Amino acid sequence: MEEKAWFEIRRHTPEKLALARKVLEEVRAGQKVQDALRRNPLPDGGYLGKHMLVAAYRQLTDSGEWSYEAEFLARIRMKPIRTLSGVTTVTVLTKPYPCPGKCIFCPTDVRMPKSYLPDEPGARRALEHAFDPYDQVVARITALESIGHPTDKIELLILGGTWSSYRQDYQEWFVRRCFDALNGDLSSTLADAHTCNETATHRNVGLVVETRPDYVSPQELAWLRQLGVTKIQIGVQSLDDHILDLNQRGHSAEETRRAVAMLRAAGFKIVLHWMPNLLGATLESDRQDFSKLWDGLCPDEIKIYPTQLLENADLYQNWLRGEYQPYTTEQLVDLITDIKTTIPRYCRVNRIIRDIPSNNVVAGNKRTSLRQDIHKEMKQRGTRCQCIRCREVRGQKIKSSHVEMDELVYQVGATQEHFISFVTPENRLTGFLRLSLPGIDAPDTGLADLHQAAIIREVHVYGQSLQVGETSHGAAQHAGMGGQLIRRAEKVARAHGFRHLAVISAVGTREYYLNRGFETGELYLVKNL
Ligand code: SF4
Repeated sequence: MEEKAWFEIRRHTPEKLALARKVLEEVRAGQKVQDALRRNPLPDGGYLGKHMLVAAYRQLTDSGEWSYEAEFLARIRMKPIRTLSGVTTVTVLTKPYPCPGKCIFCPTDVRMPKSYLPDEPGARRALEHAFDPYDQVVARITALESIGHPTDKIELLILGGTWSSYRQDYQEWFVRRCFDALNGDLSSTLADAHTCNETATHRNVGLVVETRPDYVSPQELAWLRQLGVTKIQIGVQSLDDHILDLNQRGHSAEETRRAVAMLRAAGFKIVLHWMPNLLGATLESDRQDFSKLWDGLCPDEIKIYPTQLLENADLYQNWLRGEYQPYTTEQLVDLITDIKTTIPRYCRVNRIIRDIPSNNVVAGNKRTSLRQDIHKEMKQRGTRCQCIRCREVRGQKIKSSHVEMDELVYQVGATQEHFISFVTPENRLTGFLRLSLPGIDAPDTGLADLHQAAIIREVHVYGQSLQVGETSHGAAQHAGMGGQLIRRAEKVARAHGFRHLAVISAVGTREYYLNRGFETGELYLVKNL
């Protein structure tokens, strides 16, 4: 299948390896890498990628035919891209399309994919580009560059209804065109687009889609990996079946638990959306519901989306009939100030309210600056939030000698999670790694790479996220932090009897792991322990 071609290329055909070897010989004889590549084109007129030269060199040195020289490897390997910039998120929207969900709080606008309004900032941009993925990405990167924003590491955030309900050929086309835009090149297959991105100027360091719990299945997990997806956003909304029914979510809390366990077993980063103030909820039931998130679900990131009363959502009718009452701003601030202090250190609160312009909100809270209001309230109460976002260093310069490794171990169903981080004496977070150790009762994903494997689900070093192209010199204050986290993960996995360590790698970070002893599997990179 065409989707699998990227790892088949990694295995290299004998013809390509022979060609790569010829190029290497010429480089060893003193030719420049680019000249040698041009003199030895592929039969179809293209050129070998530098990653192939690196793979061929590894093969030659591993077999003992050539002796290993770090300098030679440095000459042929890809030019490292800047390591000090952070990750830039580029948001794209899929085309208007029906969603299988019938949630009563969700707005409908025929011009938009389900749940989006045309005047939300990201949605407006998508509409301007007629939802073309290529145009959306190019326009966003151009705009970011024009304001001096780094664009070498791009997290692609694909929004719109339920991703998994779109036709697979559309999904594949959409992702390929996003990658083409990052690559500045056209590709004929998704596999080509992925391979090209491994050495592109704008590398993809994360691919995020949003879906529903009832659309997560072993087949879907494999498909998402083939597309290159690394992070999933799932609408949980509530963990109370009665409230799920009242709001016509169309799935149970148990289905959410099952989906999240499966995503975890497949190594995805998990972002859960939770909604206070749904029809049937009270301030007290919301407090209880929120506490259930940390019992068996334990998301890596959450978005708290208070229900917003919109005229083009069915809930509006309930409100007109007097069956629904939105919370006031004060009630919301009080509720979220309370629950925010209960969020564990391994979780990041990404958002506290949706980006819906307040003119669309019929009644209830209209303030979009809830996060600031809540932080002000916490300060007054003398409470603190320990979530990742509240502790990350951001732009601050930190001396690596001032940070210490910390390890938080927690059990999620059948999986033991290790949140390994670097923290400063002031409790600021400079980097972390998420390691999953699945127990025997963890869901069977059917993914061959994950058999008897511990899984690295995320490596994040602030100021240098995922260290694409990290050099031996490292980058200023965080030199080698990613490597240390990975070494610790290997040690922990080995101590727990795992034979393999797998990592869910974005396309643009594959090289980083390959340089650290991981090998290309079917859909993950894997290291034998
Ligand atoms: S599943 Fe999501 S997009 Fe679909 S109707 Fe429900 S909330 Fe809206």
